Amino acid sequence: MNDAANRPDLWLREVHQDAVALGFRVVRSVFSGRSDHQQVDVVETVAHGRVLLNDGIVMLSERDEFVYHEMIAHVPLFVHPAPRRVLIIGGGDGGAAREVLRHRDVERVVMVEIDALVIEACRRHLPKVAAAFDDPRLELIIGDGVAYAAAGGETFDVVIVDSSDPVGPARPLFDAGFYRSVANLLADDGILVTQAESPFYDASLQQRMLAHQRSLFPRLHLYLFPTLSYPGGLWSFGFASRGLCPVADFDARRLDAAGLALRYYNAAVHRAAFALPGLVLESLGGLLDPVPL
Ligand code: SAM
Repeated sequence: MNDAANRPDLWLREVHQDAVALGFRVVRSVFSGRSDHQQVDVVETVAHGRVLLNDGIVMLSERDEFVYHEMIAHVPLFVHPAPRRVLIIGGGDGGAAREVLRHRDVERVVMVEIDALVIEACRRHLPKVAAAFDDPRLELIIGDGVAYAAAGGETFDVVIVDSSDPVGPARPLFDAGFYRSVANLLADDGILVTQAESPFYDASLQQRMLAHQRSLFPRLHLYLFPTLSYPGGLWSFGFASRGLCPVADFDARRLDAAGLALRYYNAAVHRAAFALPGLVLESLGGLLDPVPL
């Protein structure tokens, strides 16, 4: 793509399920490369800043990435009473790690990302997202999260599965075997948060992935947030634990005391994210535990 400030015809179009499309007007291509795993692109857009794409699927846009990353990190970290050790599977853009590492009490973050090219592209071209890669508390492992979890060895307070959609190397990140391995890595009061796709477009996938988690965890929840970058505009994370309730055990005083400058997440948003509309209760209500709202 050439510089296209004067090219109103230049659009990035992500086609979803061969049925709907999400579009961004493009200014220029910033990075394009191919790894053994996928095609990785960063493009500059007119309205959303830089956008990261893996295999043509939008991973994030600079305009709204804070919503996704604040919600994937702070929700579990302000429910767990003392999160010190955090595992991130995927998340190669660095946004989830950036938010986790804002918690001063977190001592160690292990991030297992399969594709070094995603990390390299984000370090060079999305530095505000990839802001925490040099933090000494972060250990970066380039490898398959499924194999890492199966190998075991270390215990974590919070595991965050910041995966792309279930195609290619991310497919097994939605399977029962992977969740079984992850359950074994979690401390007794540990929390698992998983990227859980669109309540509008992916209800049957959500049913499958959450049914696997239901068989392993005594407590299972789903929480919602808006997105400008994924089809449908409403997205979800799974929240699984052996006992912690994401609303009753949420520590709003610790959030206040942390004094973080956040642009989406706050105490009211935390609680409200677990309020589920009829369409979600219809498809997933039988799998999820209620929360006191
Ligand atoms: N949140 C974004 C979304 O839903 O579009 C995705 C964030 S992040 C960029 C997803 C990352 O997961 C990608 O960089 C991809 O390379 C990585 N990934 C996919 N499969 C993986 C696996 N089996 N192990 C580790 N990382 C994996």
